[in-house]
Amino acid sequence: MIKDYLPINKEDMAQRGWEQCDFVFVIGDAYVDHHSFGPAIISRVLESYGYKVGIIPQPDWKDSNSIKILGTPRLGFLVSGGNMDTMVNHYTVAKKRRHKDYYSPGGEMGKRPDRATIVYCNLIRQVYKHIPIIVGGIEASLRRLGHYDYWSDKVKRSILLDSQADIISYGMGEHSIVEIADALDSGIAIGDITFINGTVYKAKDLSSVYDAITLPAFQDILDSKEEFAKSFYIQYCNTDPISGKRLVEQYKENEYIVQNPPAKPLSQAEMDRVYSLPFMRDYHPIYEEKGGIPAIEELKFSLVHNRGCFGGCNFCALTFHQGRIIQTRSHESILAEANQLIWDKDFKGYINDVGGPTANFRFKACEKQDTKGACINKQCLFPTPCKNLKIDHEDYLSLLRKLRELPKVKKVFIRSGIRFDYLINDSDDTFINELCEHHISGQLKVAPEHVSDKVLDLMGKPANSVYQRFITKYKKINENIGKNQFVVPYLMSSHPGSSLKEAIELAEHIRDIGYMPEQVQDFYPTPSTISTCMYYTGLDPRTMKHVYVPKTPHEKAMQRALIQYRNPKNYDLVVEALTLANRTDLIGFDKHCLVRPKNNGRYAYGNRLEGKHAEDKKRGNEFSAKGGTGKRGKVSKATEKNSSKKSSKDIGKNTIKNASKGVSKNTIKNTSKDVGKNTIKNASKGVSKNTIKNASENSSKSPSEKISKSISNNVNKSTSNNKTNKSSRNINDGINRKVGRTVQKNNKSKAVKRQ
Ligand code: SF4
Repeated sequence: MIKDYLPINKEDMAQRGWEQCDFVFVIGDAYVDHHSFGPAIISRVLESYGYKVGIIPQPDWKDSNSIKILGTPRLGFLVSGGNMDTMVNHYTVAKKRRHKDYYSPGGEMGKRPDRATIVYCNLIRQVYKHIPIIVGGIEASLRRLGHYDYWSDKVKRSILLDSQADIISYGMGEHSIVEIADALDSGIAIGDITFINGTVYKAKDLSSVYDAITLPAFQDILDSKEEFAKSFYIQYCNTDPISGKRLVEQYKENEYIVQNPPAKPLSQAEMDRVYSLPFMRDYHPIYEEKGGIPAIEELKFSLVHNRGCFGGCNFCALTFHQGRIIQTRSHESILAEANQLIWDKDFKGYINDVGGPTANFRFKACEKQDTKGACINKQCLFPTPCKNLKIDHEDYLSLLRKLRELPKVKKVFIRSGIRFDYLINDSDDTFINELCEHHISGQLKVAPEHVSDKVLDLMGKPANSVYQRFITKYKKINENIGKNQFVVPYLMSSHPGSSLKEAIELAEHIRDIGYMPEQVQDFYPTPSTISTCMYYTGLDPRTMKHVYVPKTPHEKAMQRALIQYRNPKNYDLVVEALTLANRTDLIGFDKHCLVRPKNNGRYAYGNRLEGKHAEDKKRGNEFSAKGGTGKRGKVSKATEKNSSKKSSKDIGKNTIKNASKGVSKNTIKNTSKDVGKNTIKNASKGVSKNTIKNASENSSKSPSEKISKSISNNVNKSTSNNKTNKSSRNINDGINRKVGRTVQKNNKSKAVKRQ
């Protein structure tokens, strides 16, 4: 076997003595032959089974000749949009175009189209009408059935229909891709490959589909948010490789999409085999003159030790992609890779990470998962750790100690996310001690995400008290070892369930701990998460109960501004938010206030309200110019007490009265109207008997219990501190949220105060 990059042109093929590729892999990322990149894994796995794979990275999608450069493949085309969903890669939560693509040469944006999987497949179909097309990667995986697409604000069909591809290999595709290749190689027509776990295919009828759950038809989820939520929940309950059932979604009379159950997780021996394949561990040399591929920078000296996550955060798609069952590499496999990277000419003595979706998960959550799969109606860590959960850091510790002992290694960092709710429940403090002593560089990044228990509950995250316990312990341990190390908390604004009240609760927490976040992660409704379902439907799909969703750009901007209330640019938004929420007690000069009145109180409500101010004046209302004399509200009390005599005059009774009349009451009233009784009424109307019946097939609970019972989860956070590091891992792991956040957080460390 030639140890080199896989062919990207005919000359490379000739060098290997190939006349034809078995598969041509079209990918949206630049070609990076590293196991943190999904296409690299799939192509090397196929190579290891004897298949010849050529790569076409980032073809010119406006020129169909770009798809022909390796000739016609013998068995078919493989297509992946890349390590991230292309829409997450290209756009911020505010739907603004990003400036940099970390998976393209030199970070240049515009090297791939939006919705690359669909565009590339259609390009292939222009040239090759009947050749098999197999799609995979995060973009295809999370759009495998009808799904909500945030960027178009529409429910979209399975990507299989829009792309004209034949089959989706979803999740981590090592098993399914080899089975598909073997089936094609043995002469089975692509249309007859309907029997492989971890795949999705099209069917004209259901005569050969057995033991399946019928989802609400696509037209029904288009017409009804309740039906959408029910469909999503059934999909969510069938993500486990042991207990998951086959799912069927009807589009037309003779058009169905069938999702086979998830592929089995890799055993440790299989994991070791995958990671021992002859990756070049770098980007292809053709990118050298453009400055390389930014995403590889941190990954090159990072080690992946696991896959899967039983954390189950609701805003993360990991359950849908990798599942809840932890798969790990052996120490020997990881040490072999470490022994390889430490001799790289660019190695400076620092292993950047020893992680995965969650760094400190080294075992399956419990033994039961081997035979029965992860519980459908229960979470392993939420709201409190399950009594069957195995909490043990011994094996991870032992691995870290071995890595620290390697020659040339100065420091081994952990930059993937640490689940603090898992760590805090370990009765043995050795791991947290060694974590603080050896594996962080002055700051530990953790993801409490919020402080409001109401929001945390909807996120599937532990109560704030658990995070506080962790902080207390972390501080104490650092004191004991004489280190002045901080915690950087990742916080999220505008998650479903967060109204201005909860956003202010978070801002007050930030004030209390003296933290100044430089970046804020706005909730990003990426495809196929529970939180995205809540965002679109306004319903918690597990309970069908109404959830308040901040949706307007202005409310989202206010929630984001509250987290960064000290930034002068956010002043008006913060004042407006505090006014709307009747929390003007937080405007003033007291220690507890978030902002001061502006210009001695003359613009106490900020510029945004000056229009209203002017209108009020025209109507003869006393807004702020004359000041009030009557009974004072909280805001003027606080303000007057602390400010000059002049300013206290300016902020009076009428100001408060008009402000709450004009803004607070009506707005709050209207807001709650929008999401109130009618929604709940409609939600319960929309739950049809059949769907409930189908949903309950996977559960021992009765239908009504199932619908009403909240199954709480946890997942998605980019834990690596470095954008690139995080992004690239996520990509490999297929965690959009992680990636999205990381990409947004490009730059270096945040100014952080000690907690
Ligand atoms: S919830 Fe408990 S029993 Fe169920 S899979 Fe998780 S640890 Fe095991």
